[in-house]
Amino acid sequence: MTMSEGALPKEDAVLRVDDLQKSFGGLAATDHATFAVERGTITGLIGPNGAGKSTLFNLISGFYEPDGGTVEVNGTDVTGMEPYQVAEHGLIRTFQTPRKLEGMTVREAMLVGPRKQPGESFLTLFTSPGTVAESESANLAEAERILEDFEIDHLATQPATDISGGQMKLVELARAMLAEPEVLLLDEPVAGVNPTLAKKLKGQIRRLNEQGTTFLLIEHDMEFVMDLADPIVVLDQGHVLTEGTPEGVRNDDRVIDAYLGGGR
Ligand code: ADP
Ligand code: MG
Repeated sequence: MTMSEGALPKEDAVLRVDDLQKSFGGLAATDHATFAVERGTITGLIGPNGAGKSTLFNLISGFYEPDGGTVEVNGTDVTGMEPYQVAEHGLIRTFQTPRKLEGMTVREAMLVGPRKQPGESFLTLFTSPGTVAESESANLAEAERILEDFEIDHLATQPATDISGGQMKLVELARAMLAEPEVLLLDEPVAGVNPTLAKKLKGQIRRLNEQGTTFLLIEHDMEFVMDLADPIVVLDQGHVLTEGTPEGVRNDDRVIDAYLGGGR
């Protein structure tokens, strides 16, 4: 496997991105990006605006098809797979701007998971109808529990379109958690979220990490990401500039230059 400059070798990687490429017109949004995420970590992904962070998430999670390179989740090559298939291999992502959930309450929105539910399999209805009912009520109970954890259970019956942007981000995270992924990719989870909710979110991420979920976290708020993540991967113009501890990255002249340059 080729390693980018600065990328650290990983013994137990839950996610490997190797030489990934994606261009839009003439612009290389992802330019031979190579890095890995070690199981059990909260790994940060930072870089100036337009560095290609969200594009990388789209490529990893199957929303975009790469022009070149590979993505491996749990040792399986998932390159070119559909998002639900990547989810079945244990990787879920949230969106920088949560999708509109028209005509649904917050509780209903929680239950529209990215994973295929047992009830969706037509055969299951004939083979084990009990399983369907059990798993649906289990999901409902778990959704309620997560909404309570986030202290947004009072919003459960509100239309999902009626809540604030910050609350929407919490619902987005809560529903991702319901899928119990091994790796969770969060795209700017605290952007537009008030400090109280952001603190709550930080606590939830830590708690889930302690319970075994690996995180890859894009966040513009440096204090938030430096406090939570180690290591931190720095992206610049679609390429991995370096990877290191929060301290190391903070004091790296190339990182400072990339931010001062403002990307492109
Ligand atoms: P970041 O999330 O780091 O701010 P993005 O991944 O959103 O950066 O964008 C990286 C570059 O790719 C930007 O120049 C952006 O305009 C471009 N880009 C991203 N998505 C698309 C798309 N769907 N079509 C065309 N250009 C895109
Ligand atoms: Mg982005």
